[in-house]
This record gives sequence, structure tokens and C-alpha cells, in this order.
Amino acid sequence: MAEYANIIVDISHDKLDKTFIYRIPEALADRVGVGVQVYIPFGNRKIRGYVVELTDRAEYDTTKIKEILGIVGRSIPIESRLIALAGWMRRNYGGTMNQALKTVLPVREKKKRVQKKTVCLVLDGVEAKNQLGVYQRKHNTARARLLEALIAQQELGWEVITGKLNVSSSVISAMEQAGVVRVLTRVCYRNPVGNLPAEEYSLVLNPSQQAVVDAVVRDYDAGVRRTYLLKGVTGSGKTEVYMELIAHVISAGKQAIVLIPEIALTYQTVMRFYRRFSDRVSILNSKMSAGERYDQFLRAKNGEIDIIIGPRSALFTPFENLGLIIIDEEHETSYKSGSVPRYHARETAVERAAMEDASVVLGSATPSLESYYRAGNGVYCLLELTERVKKKPLPVCTVTDLRSELASGNRSILGRRLAALLEDRLKRGEQAMLFLNRRGMAGFVSCRACGHVIKCPHCDVSLSQHGGSGPDTGRMVCHYCGHTEAVPAVCPVCGSKYIGGFKAGTQKIEQVVRAQFPGAGVLRMDFDTTRSREGYEQILSAFANREADILIGTQMIVKGHDFPNVTLVGVLAADLSLHVSDFHAAERTFQLLTQAAGRAGRGDLPGEVVIQTYQPEHYSVVTASAQDYGAFYAQEIEYRRMMLYPPVWNLLVILCASGKQESAADASARLAGQIQSFAAGREDETIYLIGPADAAVAKINDIYQKVIYIKARNYQTLVAVKDMAEAYTRGKREYRDVILQFDFNPAN
Ligand code: ADP
Ligand code: ZN
Ligand code: ZN
Repeated sequence: MAEYANIIVDISHDKLDKTFIYRIPEALADRVGVGVQVYIPFGNRKIRGYVVELTDRAEYDTTKIKEILGIVGRSIPIESRLIALAGWMRRNYGGTMNQALKTVLPVREKKKRVQKKTVCLVLDGVEAKNQLGVYQRKHNTARARLLEALIAQQELGWEVITGKLNVSSSVISAMEQAGVVRVLTRVCYRNPVGNLPAEEYSLVLNPSQQAVVDAVVRDYDAGVRRTYLLKGVTGSGKTEVYMELIAHVISAGKQAIVLIPEIALTYQTVMRFYRRFSDRVSILNSKMSAGERYDQFLRAKNGEIDIIIGPRSALFTPFENLGLIIIDEEHETSYKSGSVPRYHARETAVERAAMEDASVVLGSATPSLESYYRAGNGVYCLLELTERVKKKPLPVCTVTDLRSELASGNRSILGRRLAALLEDRLKRGEQAMLFLNRRGMAGFVSCRACGHVIKCPHCDVSLSQHGGSGPDTGRMVCHYCGHTEAVPAVCPVCGSKYIGGFKAGTQKIEQVVRAQFPGAGVLRMDFDTTRSREGYEQILSAFANREADILIGTQMIVKGHDFPNVTLVGVLAADLSLHVSDFHAAERTFQLLTQAAGRAGRGDLPGEVVIQTYQPEHYSVVTASAQDYGAFYAQEIEYRRMMLYPPVWNLLVILCASGKQESAADASARLAGQIQSFAAGREDETIYLIGPADAAVAKINDIYQKVIYIKARNYQTLVAVKDMAEAYTRGKREYRDVILQFDFNPAN
């Protein structure tokens, strides 16, 4: 039982830093927890506050600490629940309570709310005409101008009057004092979607879609709340299933949150929801200002909307009566937060749903290993859609071996089969997409003749070539254990001199394609051409309108777009992502290949896919080209089991960062020693410790980074390691200029 509680009295964002400590009276001890709203003495008033943390340490004169007076009501407001969720996040992912609170509570707008100011006419018709005559006789031209306009229109916007009509605010207030006009101020929320009417909705679900909906609805109506994993091939109609489920929970008076990766949150996607649910839907995206986002949260809290669609952070929308959380493309790494607390939206969604009696639906054509593993263990309930809607066939997939292309003298980025098919599509007036797997540009070293990739002798991950300056320049280094070696002059396997880092950007590909197909219309989409959201939408709509024949791009082009005229997808150098020094490499490769293939043949014409690779025999390539998730999963989970990687085991990465190299090294070494003895004390379970090693980027902006990897079978064991590390380092001199960060089951 903790003795004290830290309490915030105002949850507006900028005041979160200020918490006050109160003693927990014995009578309330078992009812005071994180998130609970309480009455406290404050000055000489009695006010309400939220408990954000329980503690036994009072860094304050304990005789001056006052007691909590009581607990507020029985109904728990949404803020309480979100604060409790923040408490769960702090416990499970590390960081401070403040960081967690700032993640879950919306930012209150600092600027004044956007207000719509208008001026309206107070006088009736006859009076107004008389008054106009008075102004004209007195040559009060500005007043006359405004009055004339108001006689025609009753009410005018402030900007129109002061702008176009050129009437000053002092004139307006004089007229208001004279009782001629009145100034009105209305608060208006910014609505990012605008006002469109819902269209007649007539689509009928096919039997497989209906079966999925029925399964979830049956549970829901029986009061059973679960997490479902909807595994449905690309184009199987998952989005329609989501919308049907949402309609069901809304009809029960509940609300829904739909998480979609930002990159797939296109106009096309939003409009599908909008057509069905009209202005009961709103969206969030990272381009919105803090104020705009806050407005959407307010609309949700006030019951003006039932559905919010957005990326990760939309999970914290303060709906009072949450019924359903949907996470589309649940395998996406963008659901893992890159800053403290490094929460995963999937796990956090499951926790929020449990707290608020909601269900969760995770959807993907290529579920994350984590989710499929949990489905296999019965933690999630698996639902499947195995066919595309209207029985459209999945595309036919072939693999081109780039080693034999080289051997037969073709050094082009385009293999012969892909080039021939492109030619064919151009002749037929169909469209093609060329996808460059950019995830692998991290500088691994491979042989273009045999495909061999140089790996760390200790860690089974590929070595990276160091660019930049310093003693390691040009050498290869392992980011797990720090092993380095020189880049060999010839391939250690086949003796070829074609060994080195692979570098080809989308620009290079565009040049090649333009040179080889001079008549083709080519569009390119990558981080250069799409700095702005508009640029991104423009390219997508130009391609959808068939203004170009070939779209070249990175990961961005494979996410959830529907181009019915695309009948060919080429994946260039598919294995680039296989050699990232990350145990997820095969999984990411499989997902990218399958998603890319899923872009082909979505219209009435069947699709074809060509995967070009140096490693045609790699299981992620073989299973992706066969579009066989089950086969991929079976191999990959064995690898994870053997290597003690998630999801079979759990992994905690502790990052120690400091401006001083010695501090980072010393702090991480001490901590590692501490964890070692902690592990030794846990007799009934095994804890593995690796490191400290230099982080993937050992030094950023003159901050030195060391990492420690800890593996354990149980997640809660790693939470205990984190708690121990936090307690051990707190207030110690050696850790004063060191920042510790925890990353549980990192995404990369
Ligand atoms: P997914 O999300 O699984 O990729 P979508 O929901 O986007 O699939 O569906 C793919 C396409 O099929 C969309 O254009 C959608 O409107 C259409 N569609 C989905 N379900 C049906 C159905 N039952 N009848 C007709 N068309 C459908
Ligand atoms: Zn070789
Ligand atoms: Zn190594």
C-alpha cells in the first residue's frame, strides 16, 4: 500500500508538470489508484484532482502533506480512464508518468479557439431604410455601405465587412452602440472532413464477409469482448467488414476508433467511411495543428462524432462509450511509438478495450508474427477471408534470379522478364507499378554474382558498412555485438569481384525506365517528390486517372491504394530488406512482397507480379511468391523459437545516452552488471543479457549511445528488470548526465 498520491488538478497539457502530493488516508487506501478522481484541500478550498501516481517517497516535508478528503462519485469520467491507461503504459513501457500523460491526454489549445464573428442587422426593414437615409444625408459613407449590405443579406462575416466593404471596427462598434447592428461570436470547431451528405449505401456483403461480421456481432451482443485477428488476403473486403461492425456498435449507442497507418489515410479511404457515416466521422493526421487535433477530441467527447480515423495517436480519442477499436494493417511498424513511452498501439488498444468494455479487431493480409502467434495460442480469436471479393484471382507471381541475369550479361536494374511484361502492358494500355524496397538501404555488403551476404560470425545478422568519418570508415560492423572487419576484395564464397554495398534509388530507376521505354508516361513517388501531403495525393490521383503508365516508388506506393487498371507489379531487388541487421528482416520482406503483389489485378483484369532478387531460394521470397502466409509463418516462428526472439521470447532494449562518451560507457557497464546479478537471483527462470554494445548509430548529434539487450520468456520479467533499472539509477551521481530509455520488443 502506497502512502502518498501524486495528484494533478488541471489536466490541460502545459500544466501536467505540476502535480501535488497528498497523503492517502487509511480508510481510502484500497480505493485510491491511478486515474481515480478525488477531492483534495487546495489552499482553503476543496477541489477535484486526478491521482496520477502512487508513491512511498515524499520529496517534501512530510508533516506538511495534507490528506485526500474523499473520492468523487461513482461514474468514472473518460479522463480517469485515460489516466489509468497512462499508468499502465508507464508500467509496461517505462518513462515518466508525465510522458505517459502527455501521450494520452489531448493538448489544450494555447491560442484562442477559432471563432466566427459576424455582424447582423437589428432593425427591421422599414427602420433600416430610414436609418440608411439618415446616414446618406450625413455622408456617413462607411455606415451607409455596411447598412446597405446588411439590408440585402441580414448577416455578414467580420472579415467581409472589414475587408471587402472596408468598414473599420470602430465604425461597427459605433453602430452596435446605436442599436443598429449586433456583433455575434460563435465558437466553431474545425472539421477536417467538411460537410458532405451520406450517400445511399447499397453494397451487400458476400457470405465470407457476413460470416466474419456475424461471429463478432454474436459475441458483442452476448456481452463478450475479445480481440479478433482478421486475416484477409488483399482485396478480400476487410474495410467493408470494419464498416459493418462499426455500424453495429454505433446502433448500440457506442463509438469506434479506426487506426490506419498515416500513409494509407488517403482521400480515397476517408471518403469510403464518409460516404457511409457522413459527418459522424472525423479524422486525425499528423499534418493537423495541435488545435485542430484538440478540436476533434472535443467533438468526440461532446458526442458530436461516433467514429475517428487516424494513425497511432487516434487511439487516445476520449470517447465516453467506446465499443470497438479497429487496427487496419496491424502488422505496420508505425503502430510502435518511436518516442517515450515506446508503446505499441496494438497492445495498448487491447488494454484500453479491456478497461472500457470494448472489442478490438486487428486486420491484415500479412499479420504480424506476434498477432498470429497469439491467435494460435487462443489469446486472439482468428477470423479469415481467404478469397478476393467477386472471386477475383490473386495475381500470378514469378521470381527472377538476378544472379543468372548477371551471368547471362544483363546488368540492367530490370530483368528480362519484367522488361518484356512492361513492354506488353504499355502496348495494351494497362498500368504497371515498380516498387523499390528501400528498407534495406542500411549499407549491408553482398555479392552480385552469388548473392552471398556478409554476416557477423557471432550474431547471425548482416554486417553494415560504415560511411561517414572515424576509425571504422569503410569497415563492416555488427550492431549487436560490435564485431568489425574489413570489406573483402572478392566474395569469400565464389571469388567474384562484384562485392559491395547495393545502392540504387528511385531516381536511378526512373532514368533507366525512361531510357528503355521512351514513349511511356512515368511518375515517381518517394520522399523527395512527396514532401507535402498534397504532392502525395496529386501523384496518386494522377496515376488513378491514368495520366501515366508506370508508377515508380518506395514502400509508399504499396499501402492500400486501389488502382483497378494496374495489371503488373515489379519488385526490384526484393531482398534488400532481408539483410537489415534486425531479426524482423524476413518478416518485413514477406510483408512488403505480399502487399506489393496485392496491388496487381484489383480491377477486372487479372494481375501479374515479378519479384527480382539475388536470393530466390530464401523462404520469405518463396512463400511470398506463392502467397502462402501459413508456410512463411511456420518457418519464421521456428527461427524465432530457436533464436529466442519475440514473439516466442521477449526482448528489452535499454538505451543509455549521454553527451560524454565515458559516462555512457560507464553507466551502461554498471547497469549491465546490476542486471547480471538480478538475473542470477532469479533461479526459476533464464534471463539473457547481451552488451553493452554501441547502438546502431553510436553517436547522434554528439550524444553517445550504448545499448543493452535482455531476453526473457515472460514479458513481466522484463518489466521487473526495467523497474529494477529505474530504481537502481534514480538519483545516482553516475547517472546524472545519462538518459535511460526502454524499448520493449522493438520494431526495428
Ligand atoms: P481490403 O481492405 O481487404 O483490401 P476492401 O474492403 O478495400 O478490401 O475491398 C476491395 C474492393 O472490393 C473495394 O473496392 C470494395 O468496395 C469492394 N468490395 C468489398 N466488398 C464487396 C462486396 N461485398 N461486394 C462488392 N464489392 C465489394
Ligand atoms: Zn559471391
Ligand atoms: Zn555480432
